[in-house]
Amino acid sequence: MKNKLIYIMILICIVVIGSGCNNSNLQENNKKNINQSSEDSKEHDKNKDSIVDDNSENKGKSEKEEVVPTNKTIVIDPGHSSTGTSGQEPIAPESSQTKLKDGLGATGEYTGVPEHKTNMSVALLVKENLESKGYNVVMTKSDVAESKSNIERAFIGNENNADLVLRIHADSSENNNIGGASVHVPGNNKYTSSIYEISKSYGETIINTYAQELGIKNRGVIERDDLTGFNWSKVPVVLIEMGFLSNKEDDMFVSNTENHSKIAKVIADGIYKCFE
Ligand SMILES: [Zn+2]
Repeated sequence: MKNKLIYIMILICIVVIGSGCNNSNLQENNKKNINQSSEDSKEHDKNKDSIVDDNSENKGKSEKEEVVPTNKTIVIDPGHSSTGTSGQEPIAPESSQTKLKDGLGATGEYTGVPEHKTNMSVALLVKENLESKGYNVVMTKSDVAESKSNIERAFIGNENNADLVLRIHADSSENNNIGGASVHVPGNNKYTSSIYEISKSYGETIINTYAQELGIKNRGVIERDDLTGFNWSKVPVVLIEMGFLSNKEDDMFVSNTENHSKIAKVIADGIYKCFE
């Protein structure tokens, strides 16, 4: 009987100790759970942090976008082609006056480099530059052999609702002493009155930046009523004459492909200023 009692007492002890262990196990588990959940919350905090970081990064990006807008479409028209077209087209809607659809352009008198080659080379680099800043760029053509009429190229600007059409050219004169760069813009005529002011303003900014940054003579902004590519345009348009291919200094500079990155950067800089 006494032994039985001792046996029962031992059993009770075992049960109590056992359940005590279980309790401490439970507590241990609870602790673990608490720790786990606090890790999780730290993880959440981390996520929160990273969300904040992402937001601040986006904020940074959108602030940059405000300085250099990404919602602008620039149509670039490299003037002339290696082939040209023989046909004529009206210089303005309903006009009886006609002009060549696509003239062959000038040739460097000292370098022998054709204008269309220089225009295309610079145009593609301007495109690269603008795209690196988030601009949408549409080329009227990317192959010098491709000939499109001036009306066809103006329509590309209109169809894309371009913020600016940039026509890239180089000048020529019978007088070899004449040098420098200019920008041509539409005159204030019945076809272009709605784009006159804005085109002129963009033109001034682009030629001033170009001449100042390159140290080339600034021949200013010239209004033209006789250019087909202007009179058919419904969107702001400027034509830059990068220099005179009939002038030794200009030809040696403008026709040299080593200078095209610099020339393109300076043209792009002018465009950025237009949309600041
Ligand atoms: Zn030209």
